[in-house]
Amino acid sequence: MAVESTLSSPLGPPACEKDVMALQFIEEMTRNVDAVQERVLAEILSRNSDTEYLRRFRLKGATDRDTFKAFVPVVTYEDLQPDIQRIANGDRSNIFSSHPISEFLTSSGTSAGERKLMPTIHEELDRRQQLYTLLMPVMNLYVPGLDKGKGLYFLFVKAEMKTPGGLVARPVLTSYYKSDHFKTRPYDPYNVYTSPNEAILCADSFQSMYTQMLCGLIMREEVLRVGAVFASGLLRAIRFLQLNWQELAHDISTGALNVKVTDPSIRECMSKILKPNPELANFIMKECLKDDWEGIITRIWPNSKYLDVIVTGAMAQYIPTLDYYSGGLPLACTMYASSECYFGLNLKPMSKPSEVSYTIMPNMAYFEFMPHDPSTPLPSRDSPPRLVDLADVELGKEYELVITTYSGLCRYRVGDILRVSGFHNAAPQFNFVRRKNVLLSIDSDKTDEAELQKAIDNASGFLHDFNTSIVEYTSFADTKTIPGHYVIYWELLVKDPKNAPSPDVLNQCCLTMEEALNSVYRQGRVADNSIGPLEIRVVKNGTFEELMDYAISRGASINQYKVPRCVNFTPIVELLDSRLVSAHFSPSLPHWIPEGRKTLS
Ligand code: AMP
Repeated sequence: MAVESTLSSPLGPPACEKDVMALQFIEEMTRNVDAVQERVLAEILSRNSDTEYLRRFRLKGATDRDTFKAFVPVVTYEDLQPDIQRIANGDRSNIFSSHPISEFLTSSGTSAGERKLMPTIHEELDRRQQLYTLLMPVMNLYVPGLDKGKGLYFLFVKAEMKTPGGLVARPVLTSYYKSDHFKTRPYDPYNVYTSPNEAILCADSFQSMYTQMLCGLIMREEVLRVGAVFASGLLRAIRFLQLNWQELAHDISTGALNVKVTDPSIRECMSKILKPNPELANFIMKECLKDDWEGIITRIWPNSKYLDVIVTGAMAQYIPTLDYYSGGLPLACTMYASSECYFGLNLKPMSKPSEVSYTIMPNMAYFEFMPHDPSTPLPSRDSPPRLVDLADVELGKEYELVITTYSGLCRYRVGDILRVSGFHNAAPQFNFVRRKNVLLSIDSDKTDEAELQKAIDNASGFLHDFNTSIVEYTSFADTKTIPGHYVIYWELLVKDPKNAPSPDVLNQCCLTMEEALNSVYRQGRVADNSIGPLEIRVVKNGTFEELMDYAISRGASINQYKVPRCVNFTPIVELLDSRLVSAHFSPSLPHWIPEGRKTLS
């Protein structure tokens, strides 16, 4: 029952006493955006005034926005990399932050093919945690009764590595799940998970997924929401069920845990959860045996009210598949965050994916916005653009997000393009438009045009021996398969048909391309099994000319026409596929060093 009267929030009546404070906090932050931003910047600058980085810009103790903007440059990761490398190598001096660097967070964005390393400080965990505590109070405004059951969330940790200087480097969610903030979180009836901590914290992705799915099946009637961080992760879980339901049902029928799950802490905790239940096992087998898996999520978890997954940005490509498996359950995108900083939350989490907007919380960092007009060239170093404050962005305009964090990033370009879609109080709300320079993405991998070109160059080197060259190419993220995979369309010029590259050679080209792609891609292929083998589709000669004709018929200028390096418009993909000569897949996994065994140099 909603909490009435004086405690009611403009967002809606809080569901319980505990939510009152969270909603009041959101109100306070969104009403006072500019003042909070001014305070946050002053706090960051005064505490970090003695850092090597800020001393370079001679702020002379100033903590105001004008001085900061006049003296401190807008930067990218590459600008900071030499200093970041010093920290990785063991330099403990105050380079970016007056607080000690507690660890590195490894971003899924890459630089020179490797994950970016984001130095962070211990206190940031509190800030992330605080944003998490706002999510359920907002959700409770829209979905009642979430305290009457559990959430089936597929959450995973990934391997960690150590930098030469001894700091841990790992993804931000791994850091969070392994923190006491998560592990020893107090009981909250609105936040009960079916997955035991032991399963979430198991680094072996098979054992972790198996146990989480098993628990989800055992507690199927209690499950009120099903989720993962990103849409691709939830679909991977469905695929896992497709491949493993027989073994899972066997465990449920007998009450004995699969011997493939060897982690002692999981075995120990599952001994309390898993009991023989032949009736449930039969039900699962009956559902999974059906040829058609449409609506499988609601068939197995009949009380689920929504899917909690991010489907904005690159993840929008999974919406139709999620709708298919869930019978159209609402898709809730609750928050917007990154390794560098957690940004904000969706105050209307049940809104349609195309209407999702995120409200940036002004206490998380100091935010600036670089006007982004796709039709004008990017600003050069000599004419830096004027950045706009959070309180000053304009409705309908697009901006690139620039952050200054408590960990010491100053005027750092995140690379995300956002569009102002509205306001809550004085706080702007943003549609996530896209990440800059991302051509292909299946899971957390992000491949840009230069990386794809390099992969193509490597593969064409392979074709030289066969007197064959790649005349044109384009690419497509095929998400009809689970996991999805990259498709590269090639038009080839075979100069000596007697010595044409064999199917084996073309398969090998797929692998050569994969070897050239960045480490997040290769980790997705090798360790996470979140990306399928790369496919080359050879198309008939003349296909790319037809593609140009098609674009021109739709209004493209013949003089300015450039072959798109990625296609996703269905008629174009269909045109390419209708000219297919042969298809080839990577015959094995590319090279990827498990992070635990990698030393950074
Ligand atoms: P990472 O640095 O690997 O944590 O990735 C962070 C990036 O993921 C962000 O900068 C965005 O590009 C993307 N991202 C995070 N949250 C969302 C969201 N809710 N919608 C769309 N993209 C997101």
